[in-house]
Amino acid sequence: MDRIAIIGGGLAGTACAYVFRRGGMEPVIFEASESLAAGASGNPLGLYNPRFFAEKMPQAEFYAEAFLDICSLLQEIGEEVDHSAHGSLHLITTPEKDIRFRKMLESWGWGDDLMTIVSAEQASDLAGIKLSHDAMFLPTSGVACPYKVCGYYARDCEVRLNESVTELVQTTSGWQVNGESFDAVILACGAGVLNFEQTNWFPVHTVRGQVLQFAETEVSKNLKTNLNYGGYLLPSTNGVHTSGSTFQSWLTHTDILEQDNTDILSNLEKAVPSLSGDKEVTYARASLRTASKDRLPIIGCVPDPEAFEEVPSQVQNMFVSTAHGSHGIVTSYKAAEIIFKKYVQDADNSAYVEVSPDRFLKGKGNRKTRVNFSQ
Ligand SMILES: Cc1cc2nc3c(=O)[nH]c(=O)nc-3n(C[C@H](O)[C@H](O)[C@H](O)COP(=O)(O)OP(=O)(O)OC[C@H]3O[C@@H](n4cnc5c(N)ncnc54)[C@H](O)[C@@H]3O)c2cc1C
Repeated sequence: MDRIAIIGGGLAGTACAYVFRRGGMEPVIFEASESLAAGASGNPLGLYNPRFFAEKMPQAEFYAEAFLDICSLLQEIGEEVDHSAHGSLHLITTPEKDIRFRKMLESWGWGDDLMTIVSAEQASDLAGIKLSHDAMFLPTSGVACPYKVCGYYARDCEVRLNESVTELVQTTSGWQVNGESFDAVILACGAGVLNFEQTNWFPVHTVRGQVLQFAETEVSKNLKTNLNYGGYLLPSTNGVHTSGSTFQSWLTHTDILEQDNTDILSNLEKAVPSLSGDKEVTYARASLRTASKDRLPIIGCVPDPEAFEEVPSQVQNMFVSTAHGSHGIVTSYKAAEIIFKKYVQDADNSAYVEVSPDRFLKGKGNRKTRVNFSQ
């Protein structure tokens, strides 16, 4: 049975463990912290949505497929990971959003069961509270608890906690990871990829973010769907709402900032005035997302930087799943499926966000042309 070393015990790493285990292999997760989901994946609740693109370009296809895949999987897993598919309303708060969302509705070609635009009145009915904006409605979107998802993914796998991988040595048949032999290695350690010589050139950076929870109020407890307005508010579970989030690429600490709580709540009240009023913040958590230069995840084989520009070639049996940005619940599972197919079939048969010269070395500024997809 092939032994696969997975570095990182967040959504990216545990999703790989789940998919490789399901495929009959023996994954071993190495996690530097004392628990799984200690980094960006440790929030109490997160929402799953595709990333929005006005045109159905390859990037949009990737997020659309990833979204549909995770909808099915979470439906199967159910309440064990606090999953609820209660739908998401994306408020149309600016004329630019109005144009973008209407274009998206047309170009994505999804039916009303997946995507529709509703009036402010219909949105209010769906949400259970008064909204003053029309909205894009995604009925199958919802929420899940990221750290419980990690626990579910990893539950039949060997997990080594408090074990930071410091040594990766290539052998004739695979890799030595901290001195132990494996057939392949998957780097799923967020910005930790910068600590390995094979990937220390990747254009990734961190973006700090904070979420909070506040006690439900007489009005807010009626909320039935996710609300997205730049920030997000999730329906109350066990008497508290989860709301987020901030984006600070210039901060690298994870201390709780009172100013972030203030900003999250004022952003909410600006978009949804019917939820104005005092709120009791009961919890807050900050962590570091990993993002790439073009804001797409980095998934697939690791290219050999020596040969990268001339004749692209790969570091044998080394894979990567990182830079999941703000959509890790959705993209990490798709990433795992893509890597699994690459490993077992050496296949280019699924659309994936590969690391290519076009994407990271030659392109300057044009997001659309810098991305290479294999079909
Ligand atoms: C405030 C905030 C709100 C968010 N909200 C949502 C949301 O609502 N929906 C959504 O889909 N996404 C959301 N995200 C994004 C999502 O959380 C991330 O995309 C996802 O958690 C990334 O998972 P990951 O496994 O790549 O990274 P991480 O969860 O950070 O995991 C990487 C792991 O690798 C470990 N590691 C690093 N180096 C080593 C090493 N050398 N050896 C061993 N282990 C190592 C780290 O300890 C860490 O546990 C949010 C993020 C933030 C910060």
